[in-house]
Amino acid sequence: MSDTRKVVKVALAGNPNAGKTSLFNALTGAHHKVGNYPGVTVEKREGLRIRNGIEYRFTDLPGIYSLTAYSIDEVVARDFLIDEAPDVIVDVLDSTNLERNLYLCLQFQELGIPIAGALNMSDEAAAKGIDIDAGILGRVLGIPMAKTVGTRGEGIDELLDMIDATLAGSLVSKERRSVLYGGEIEDLLMPLEKAISADGSFSKLYSPRWLAVKLLEKDAHAQELLAGRSDAAAILALARGAVAWLEKHYGREAEIVVSEQRYGYIRGAAKESVRIVKKHDFSLTEAIDKVVMNQFLALPIFVAVLWSVFKITFTLGAFPMAWLETAFGWLSSLATALIPAGFARSLVVDAILGGVGGVFSFIPLIVILFFLLAILEDIGYMSRAAFATDKILHAFGLHGQSVFPMMLGFGCSVPAIMAARTLKSRRDRIVTILIIPFMSCGAKLPVHVLLAAAFFPKKAAEMVMLIYGIGVALSLVSAWVLKKTVLRGDATPFVMELPPFRAPTLRGIIWHVWEKTWFYLKRAGTTILTATMLIWAITTFPVYDAQGLDSASAAEAKLEHSLAGRLGKFIEPVFKPLGFDWKIAVASVTGFAAKEIVVSTLGVLYRVGADETDEAKGSESLRIALRNDPNFNPLVAFALMLFTLVIPPCFAALATIKAEIGWKWMGFAVGFMLSLGWGLGAIVYQVGSLL
Ligand code: GDP
Ligand code: MG
Repeated sequence: MSDTRKVVKVALAGNPNAGKTSLFNALTGAHHKVGNYPGVTVEKREGLRIRNGIEYRFTDLPGIYSLTAYSIDEVVARDFLIDEAPDVIVDVLDSTNLERNLYLCLQFQELGIPIAGALNMSDEAAAKGIDIDAGILGRVLGIPMAKTVGTRGEGIDELLDMIDATLAGSLVSKERRSVLYGGEIEDLLMPLEKAISADGSFSKLYSPRWLAVKLLEKDAHAQELLAGRSDAAAILALARGAVAWLEKHYGREAEIVVSEQRYGYIRGAAKESVRIVKKHDFSLTEAIDKVVMNQFLALPIFVAVLWSVFKITFTLGAFPMAWLETAFGWLSSLATALIPAGFARSLVVDAILGGVGGVFSFIPLIVILFFLLAILEDIGYMSRAAFATDKILHAFGLHGQSVFPMMLGFGCSVPAIMAARTLKSRRDRIVTILIIPFMSCGAKLPVHVLLAAAFFPKKAAEMVMLIYGIGVALSLVSAWVLKKTVLRGDATPFVMELPPFRAPTLRGIIWHVWEKTWFYLKRAGTTILTATMLIWAITTFPVYDAQGLDSASAAEAKLEHSLAGRLGKFIEPVFKPLGFDWKIAVASVTGFAAKEIVVSTLGVLYRVGADETDEAKGSESLRIALRNDPNFNPLVAFALMLFTLVIPPCFAALATIKAEIGWKWMGFAVGFMLSLGWGLGAIVYQVGSLL
């Protein structure tokens, strides 16, 4: 039986925030991140469901507003639909915003791929008194429709029925498959369609109707598609004639005429099938928006929200962090008691428990920070933040659309860099990607917190926030400079939809936080652990016989004699202007691979030899050890925090930059951040020493 199973390829497509990922999860049982902002689904995802002997293979596409392919998301979705030719498109429609969502639906229809409509968010529509007759709407448009609630998995069976129906062609009357643009435009389309259909193998690949309409819209991609044909010139001439006629008669750009016709058609369809039961007189979203989007209040509120996020993170995080430090200290004493003195004890106590343990104890901070950012995103505040910051970002040559990728950068640069895909212009995208690493990420947090707590114990949280603030300021100034120099150009106008405020779903948030925490844990357990053991090895070998010296100077002599000591002395001159002695230089250099390693390296460097005393382990003793080093002082600590903030991001982030915008820009980023990081560190140290 199973080898005769029928396979149906289904693409889930629609506007951003219509609920595609929620439906995808409900259909396939997957747990992908749902989000309130375009760009969350940056790649396509696949999953399957089997019902009545049919295997449905679903692909979750990024959200788009049209098939015009201005942004990467649109290109991904369009190429998938055209090149992979799924058997069915499930168009996920936001029922509370039906007319706008149907616009894309009509473009799908012209592709000639069978469509089933998911009237999603039907719970919200009902609550708002919008009553959609799915049957009538389906018949008017020639598209079988089912009402769904993606978050609760309601209407899934009906939707699968509609997929079957559209495949069988039962609910679809052929004549109504295409939008009727009205007599005059149809008269222009007909000869174009005919000319395109002349090449049978070509029109099997690309729907002639779709291509004809695209040519009327002066779509560049459609023109390129024709390039391979011998009659391309004739078709393009025909299209130019049609466009000229339209523009002369309507007195507007042809693409505007076409879209007006589409909207007219949609209004007609909606009129027949949608009833507004009661006019909603009070909307919580509107009420909240009156405040958070107020032209005077929006920015202060945004700053206050960000400030609270950090304040809550540090205040709440301090407790579990202290417990973890105690736990690791206890484990260290245990290991010291159990393992006889020697390399094995030193490896376990200094490298594994001291180094990696230091990184682990920051997990509570990371969890809380991600949790709060996820809530902001889920309730819909991030889109408001884009509006709130639009004006100020304009002053730096950016616009509000960059704010979401930038905020994600506080968590991790990798997804943040990918989220920049939603930016329409390539130039804006490159600028945004280049400045994201200045948004201090979760891996830099341990470095800042450790140094701030060691050297600014009274004002630790304020120091960390100051560093974050400097990062934001640097990103803005860099954007301004880049926009004035290598990436000159005007900001592209953008239209962004404001999704309604929604209660966050606990499941979604927990998944999000877990995903990020697990990533951090895995890193600490693999990359960071390996690197730390390596650093332990180069600080331990070659072994130096320090007999005759007292224990403190013996430890120091051993360390200076080790490979790390020699390397450190070798690179020390480069870091002299920043006030770093060789140990700090070694630690700061390890940050190039991943920022957490700075902490674990300091842990190893400052406790080699200390394992003979049974002093408490964990970050607390590391703080004491740092403070006791005469070469380390608040000024050096501040220079090191700045240096760590500004130097190029970790290898994973660099690889992402390369993948997104190429070698050239990655190289530029490395050069730019290296010189800026070194320069700022040096200026701070030199000026600070004078004062
Ligand atoms: P996508 O951008 O199209 O993939 O949309 P998502 O699946 O990420 O959903 C966007 C937001 O809408 C999330 O906060 C979901 O929890 C929420 N959502 C999705 N479907 C529904 C629904 O049917 N009803 C309600 N009330 N909320 C939904
Ligand atoms: Mg999605």
